[in-house]
Amino acid sequence: MTKKVLSSKTIGIGLITLIIVGFISVIGSMLGGIQFNNIMGANLNPAIDQSVNEIGKLIQQGERAAVIQQQLDGSVSHNKQLKNLFVINQEALIIAAGDRSAIGLSLPLQFISNSIKGVPLPFNHQSNYLPKRSTLYPLKENQDLNVFEKYQSPDKMVYYVVGAFPVSPEMSAQQAHMVSMITGFMLIYRICFILSWLLLALWVYLDARRRHSNAAAWGILTLLTSVIGWVVYLLARPIVITCPACGEEQGQDGKYCTNCGAIIKTCCPQCSCEIKPTWHYCKTCGFKLSD
Ligand SMILES: [Zn+2]
Ligand SMILES: [Zn+2]
Repeated sequence: MTKKVLSSKTIGIGLITLIIVGFISVIGSMLGGIQFNNIMGANLNPAIDQSVNEIGKLIQQGERAAVIQQQLDGSVSHNKQLKNLFVINQEALIIAAGDRSAIGLSLPLQFISNSIKGVPLPFNHQSNYLPKRSTLYPLKENQDLNVFEKYQSPDKMVYYVVGAFPVSPEMSAQQAHMVSMITGFMLIYRICFILSWLLLALWVYLDARRRHSNAAAWGILTLLTSVIGWVVYLLARPIVITCPACGEEQGQDGKYCTNCGAIIKTCCPQCSCEIKPTWHYCKTCGFKLSD
C-alpha cells in the first residue's frame, strides 16, 4: 500500500493550503511594495514631482546639459524637502545639478534603493563604485539619495533624475529595520508562491497518472499556465471509482474491479443503467429490483 502514502486527499489539503499561501504571497508582495515605496519617500510633494517631470521632458527632447541645468537652477533652490536634485548618466556622473558645484563630479552611490519602480539601476547602490573618492559630491547632514525617475534621450542614452533629501538618524535606523523586515517577508511570500505553483503542477501530474490520463502533458500544461491549466484539467479529467473491497482506483466504464473482482457498479438487469443499492425500482425503466 506504499502508493497510498501520497493519497489525493493529503495532496489536496496540502495544495489548498499552498494555494492560500500563494494568494497571500501576491497580496503580501503588493502591500510590501507599496509600503516600501512609502518608506523610501517615493511619494514626494507635487512641486518636486513637477520638477522631475520637466527635467524628464528636456532629456527626452535631447536638450543639452546646459538647458537642463537652467531648469534645475529654478526648481531646487527654494525646496526645503529636497537638499539637491541631480541628473546623472549611466556612469553616475553628474551632468546637471541644483548645486552647480556638483557638476562633473561622480555621486557616492549610497542610494537607499537599488531600483526605480521595479527596474534595477545599472550600478550597485551600496558600493563605492567610483575610483576617485576625492571627487565625490559631499553628502551633508545625513542626506539620502533616491532615484526619482529614469529617462531616455533620443540618442538612446539613459539618464536618472536623483534627489538628495535629508533624513534624521533615528528615521534612518527605523527605515533600515523596516526595509529589512519587509524584504524578509517578501522573500518568504515569493518562495511560497513558487512552491504552490510547482505543487499544483505536481498534483495534476500525480492525479492524471492515477487516472491513466496523459500525466506529463497535463503536468506541463499546469506548470505553464498554473491555475488555468488546473481548472481545465479538473473539468476534463476522467472520473474514477474506488473499489469498495480493495481500494483500487477503477475507470467508470467497468462493472467489476480489475484488481479483486468485486462488484464496483450494480446495473439494472433490464436496461443496464447504473443503480444504487438502496433503490427498489430502476429510475430509468421502472424495473422492480429484488433486495
Ligand atoms: Zn477491488
Ligand atoms: Zn432499468
